[in-house]
Amino acid sequence: VTRANEKVCFIGGAAHSGSTLLGLMLGAHPKVFYAGEAGKSRHLNNEKKPLRKRTCKVCGAECPVWGHLERMPGEDLYEALSRRTGRPIVADSTKSIGWLEEQITALGKTSAEPYFLFLGRDGRAVVASSARKYPETSIREHAEAWASQIAATEALAGKFPGPVARVRYEELATEPEKTVASITALLGIDLAPEMLAPWGTEQHPLGGNAGTQSLLRGAQTRVGGTLEISGEKRGYYEGHPRSVVLDLRWRRELSEQAIAEFDEVAGAVNRGYAWE
Ligand SMILES: [Zn+2]
Repeated sequence: VTRANEKVCFIGGAAHSGSTLLGLMLGAHPKVFYAGEAGKSRHLNNEKKPLRKRTCKVCGAECPVWGHLERMPGEDLYEALSRRTGRPIVADSTKSIGWLEEQITALGKTSAEPYFLFLGRDGRAVVASSARKYPETSIREHAEAWASQIAATEALAGKFPGPVARVRYEELATEPEKTVASITALLGIDLAPEMLAPWGTEQHPLGGNAGTQSLLRGAQTRVGGTLEISGEKRGYYEGHPRSVVLDLRWRRELSEQAIAEFDEVAGAVNRGYAWE
């Protein structure tokens, strides 16, 4: 039996680094299915988890891809997704090192080629974004979490069994065409114009940033979808154009004190990631 899935493109790094945007751009290519955080597929049939954590963010439970996704005995998730979507490349933005190691091992027994995109972003922007979502956690703890995820991802990238490419969120946002072109060249596919404006394309991601996903045309009004966003976040994304915009909110959100705390814990790691 010929394998339908030819390549798996992992998007690793820390949360809040723009992986939803990069994933939607990749998934806009007719040969690529963007699975979102495919690791959440472990919860597909777990009714104890909230719906938004275990179904397609756009469609909800009645998703043509994830709904009743059957896997043949011994079949990996990526093969099941490629068979169902007809797309030979699957992108997965799960950040968990445990999940990534499991998938890399499983794929090693198949003919699929693994690729790793290490998505980096200024740690101060990541911490400001995490603090917006989890304000009860201290800046110090957010900074420690970022630095340790970066270290763990570096270690994984060092032993990854396929091509590894570094992608900067800030470059993706300011020079999207050049950045996406370097990724499509790596994957051996053409740059499709819709990758630079993925908002009108069909997408079925698990997990990820609901704000970015809310820019998908019609996404918020889909019956059964779980893309409700509220409060300040809603205000930000309602005023957001359907284009790629560099998010530098951290510069006004982090106080001098917060930046000093960040530097103490993660300043050294951030030397390779700071965007000035
Ligand atoms: Zn869906």
